Amino acid sequence: MSFLENIKPSVRALETYSVKGKLLQPGLIKLNQNENPFDIPDEIKRELTEAFIGTPWNRYPEVFPDNLLQAISSHVRHPVEGIIAGNGSNELMYTILMAVVSKGTKVLIPSPSFFLYEKAVKVFDGEVVSVMMNKDLSFPTEEIMRSAQKEKPALIVLVSPNSPTGQSIPVDDVERILAGTSSLVLIDEAYIEFSEKQSVQPLLEKFDRLIVLRTFSKAFSMAGLRIGYLLARPALCAELLKPKIPFTVNAFSASVAMKLMERKAIVDERIAYINNQKTILAGSLRSLKGVEVFSSDTNFLIFKTQFEAGTLFQRLLQRNVLVRDVSSYPMLERTLRVNAGTEKENMTFLAVLQELL
Ligand code: PMP
Repeated sequence: MSFLENIKPSVRALETYSVKGKLLQPGLIKLNQNENPFDIPDEIKRELTEAFIGTPWNRYPEVFPDNLLQAISSHVRHPVEGIIAGNGSNELMYTILMAVVSKGTKVLIPSPSFFLYEKAVKVFDGEVVSVMMNKDLSFPTEEIMRSAQKEKPALIVLVSPNSPTGQSIPVDDVERILAGTSSLVLIDEAYIEFSEKQSVQPLLEKFDRLIVLRTFSKAFSMAGLRIGYLLARPALCAELLKPKIPFTVNAFSASVAMKLMERKAIVDERIAYINNQKTILAGSLRSLKGVEVFSSDTNFLIFKTQFEAGTLFQRLLQRNVLVRDVSSYPMLERTLRVNAGTEKENMTFLAVLQELL
């Protein structure tokens, strides 16, 4: 008997997560993971590592990091009992699914959207109910309502602004979905800090079935340190905390997140820079012949060309420019995704792309 027979069939059918071209080769222009191009300032790194040396590393952190939760509570103006922090928002996504999904549980997810949701639903033997985005990649609100009323999913997952497409679902539409169904609704706002559209957070006052997921990985430059959080009503949080793995927020990362919330001006300045660069990048891409660029409320853009996406991806990489090939998602044939980097990085990307088209 092979050991494989003891692995769940739903897991055996999955593929391992990998990011193409991940290795940091010298001089690489890295625009593939929607990261913040600016690292945390050295001055803050030094101050916090110095302070961390003086703390006991042999002791567990708090089960749930009270200081961090208090700081997030003031930062987002939401009661502390309605906040859960995790090791990146990905961990909290799994926590939510652990609480909700068992064999055959339906989860409605528009497509294309962040692939990890579909994958995690499969890990827990749930069933994905897929609804295609509109042709212009906006959210198909009516279709979501219809499908949710028919299929009665336990959970509806809306990534807004969405990855990899970049568009948001209007808050009024989320309210209609909440009012017209009895599902839990998870809104992943990983990119909300870059968006001019409103957050759905105010709907938490009205609905006890809403969960808002956020991250410090993008706007706050903390992808490598792994902090995410969710907002919900305290009664729902009490349930979501039950399956949660304890101690996943390490004390160092928590201290960095707290410092950055204190020094919010640095973060805001970077958001403004990145948004400005994204606008310039979108304009330049639009001016290239044969390139179609989609609108985006995030720090990244997707664009279609006449070339096969894998080939163009490889040619860009040969010239030291790493973007994301998103062409395997439905509706995104011939499509690449690029996040706004520094002005210099964006200019180099554009110059190389122009030569290749
Ligand atoms: N949600 C979405 C929609 C994302 O694109 C990403 C980044 N890949 C995440 C969540 C992951 O966030 P974290 O680093 O907080 O786990």
